[in-house]
Amino acid sequence: MRAARYLGDRRVTVQDVPIPSVGPTDVLLAPEFVGVCGTDAHIVDGEYRSAPPVTLGHEIGGRVVEIGSAVRTVRVGDLVSVEPHYYCGVCVHCQSGRVNMCPDRRAPGVHLDGGMAEFLAVDETIAYPVPGTQDARRAALTEPLACAVHGMDRLAPASGSALVVFGVGPVGALLLMLARRAGVGPVVAVEGRSGRRDLAQRVGADIVLDPTEDGLVDRLLEASGGIGFPSAIDAVGSAAVLETAIPALSRGGRLLVFGVAHPDARASISPHDIYARELTILGTALNPFTHRRAANLVHQLPLDELTVGDFPLERFDEALAAQRAGTYDKVFITPQVAR
Ligand SMILES: [Zn+2]
Ligand SMILES: [Zn+2]
Repeated sequence: MRAARYLGDRRVTVQDVPIPSVGPTDVLLAPEFVGVCGTDAHIVDGEYRSAPPVTLGHEIGGRVVEIGSAVRTVRVGDLVSVEPHYYCGVCVHCQSGRVNMCPDRRAPGVHLDGGMAEFLAVDETIAYPVPGTQDARRAALTEPLACAVHGMDRLAPASGSALVVFGVGPVGALLLMLARRAGVGPVVAVEGRSGRRDLAQRVGADIVLDPTEDGLVDRLLEASGGIGFPSAIDAVGSAAVLETAIPALSRGGRLLVFGVAHPDARASISPHDIYARELTILGTALNPFTHRRAANLVHQLPLDELTVGDFPLERFDEALAAQRAGTYDKVFITPQVAR
């Protein structure tokens, strides 16, 4: 079968590799849509620790083509989404229910062969049937959605209260959709690209602000009714956003850091401000125990509003370039499509 393999040293190539064998608890999938995300770019740049040579692809939607003898929950032909983590189960974090903090987790598409291939075998425990749709693209989007669901669990914005989301990339858009459905509002989006500001409006933002215009903090305070936001999300991952978001919080406000900043980035923030206004800054990582909920939800969201770019395996480099450039709201590899 063909597979897009990361070989190290920024090199990705399509190779012929054996079709994986199917153990008793394994599910063999034919991935139809596999999302390309910032993590893939970081892997190829050597900034995210992986285990080359490895088949890329961790946002996986596909059809079950074979099941092992002990598999109970999926059948051949089912549409499934992969929750791309195997947790060690024995570290203090796993045993305390915070599996996403497991230092020994192994991820298909990062440390183990992933979905950018004609076939992928995963354990039944990480293959989730997706109800309510036959759309494998939605199944693939379940993974980033599960991360967004965890982020919203962390932030826990109250319905009827204001929220600002900085950055309307694909995950920013998912967060806006979740906020809208949770009755949070007014929802304000801050985005520098006009196409993404339009997307924000289509998926539920009440007010959309361009950060390249002057006086952003003042405009944010005005949009919040003058008191600041009880909840804010950095879906960019940058020091500049953190430095803007904190002054835009209300007293007692909470900021969720969702975007992945460069590890060397440093922000200037006021400890006194955090103390005196009793602010909370929250991290959020991965999708612990939220993949089932995301799979249940994914058919209900306005995901067709995202512009998409589809690329066969052989055009992985083009797909990654499109992901980096933001040419489309979301980029997918289509492993079943011949070059
Ligand atoms: Zn991803
Ligand atoms: Zn662990």
